[in-house]
Amino acid sequence: MRAIWVSNDDDGGYRAELRDGDAPGGADGDVDPVEIDVEWSTLNYKDALAVSGTAKVLRSFPMVPGIDLAGTVRSSASAGFAAGDRVLVTGYGLGEVRHGGLSEVATVPATFVVPVPTALTTRQAMSLGTAGFTAMLCVEKLAHHGVEPDAGEIVVTGAAGGVGSIAVAALARRGYHVVASSGRPELEEYLRSLGAAELIERDVLAERGRPLDKERWAGAVDTVGGQTLASVCASTKYYGVVTACGNAGGMDFPATVAPFILRGVTLAGVESVQTPMAERRAAWDALARDVDADLLATMTEEIGLGDVTAAGARLLAGQVRGRLVVDVTR
Ligand code: NDP
Repeated sequence: MRAIWVSNDDDGGYRAELRDGDAPGGADGDVDPVEIDVEWSTLNYKDALAVSGTAKVLRSFPMVPGIDLAGTVRSSASAGFAAGDRVLVTGYGLGEVRHGGLSEVATVPATFVVPVPTALTTRQAMSLGTAGFTAMLCVEKLAHHGVEPDAGEIVVTGAAGGVGSIAVAALARRGYHVVASSGRPELEEYLRSLGAAELIERDVLAERGRPLDKERWAGAVDTVGGQTLASVCASTKYYGVVTACGNAGGMDFPATVAPFILRGVTLAGVESVQTPMAERRAAWDALARDVDADLLATMTEEIGLGDVTAAGARLLAGQVRGRLVVDVTR
């Protein structure tokens, strides 16, 4: 039973290793545990941090990282799932406070488990993973707050990353006019192929502007945070909606209240770890509907368990385009 184990001790320091041994197991007190033969996992930004030790993601050691998994039920104590069911799990503390998906077998409570939508393979489900799920929560939040496809320009920041790529594709498929913000102009063709109508340089939004700037955006999906989020809010039109889900460019938020109190802008936070099950299932159904399978394939790079450490370093260096899907069987 192979898995990535992260240890942190005086003997060897912080390290991630591929090991063959016992299955990691569930957590004490798990209700109705479901044992899953994991077929695919992913590398999200948070996983790259966990594997490298760049930020405190893992709360105890040794720990199997990986916030996402998809596979087939091996055994289930819950009447809701049976052996052979195709399932996925994202968030809920996997790969943070309990063993995660970078493992051939995982055990989780039944309340964490989502059936894989019929239209998706388990590999496609993980090509989407937490990144895709988060992107769809942002897209749904724009719609929920009344931003329709004809509202005007929607900016997606960190557009060539995992969340950004899927947000661009899903918004374009729904008919929105998408402006992709990226620090990698060499990826223009890629971003246009996903459906971006226009591109804007990352540096333009990273520059400190006025508290209220010229109105431009009807809505936004921001994965970057920091000055970028502040600039996006300052340029959002009357009653526009900014969804904030990431901090790839910083945790701070050097903004003023001006866009909110003078233009009625809504800043909507998006969180994917504890999303309630009904919203979770609805977002997965929407992903199955609104992300084109061929486009998803073009934004996905496949790696094996043995490649996780090196790929995580590339992700943190901003060198990965789109998504990393992990074949846990190799
Ligand atoms: P990726 O690493 O795949 O993408 C991040 C992208 O952000 C990069 O591709 C790059 O895009 C851009 N970027 C990177 N560094 C900087 C920088 N210093 N300044 C400005 N832009 C930068 O990560 P994910 O897409 O998986 O995640 C994006 C963010 O969303 C992360 O902060 C992550 O933690 C967060 N997240 C939050 C979730 C939640 O539940 N709220 C769930 C999932 C992710 P480009 O090259 O196009 O400029």
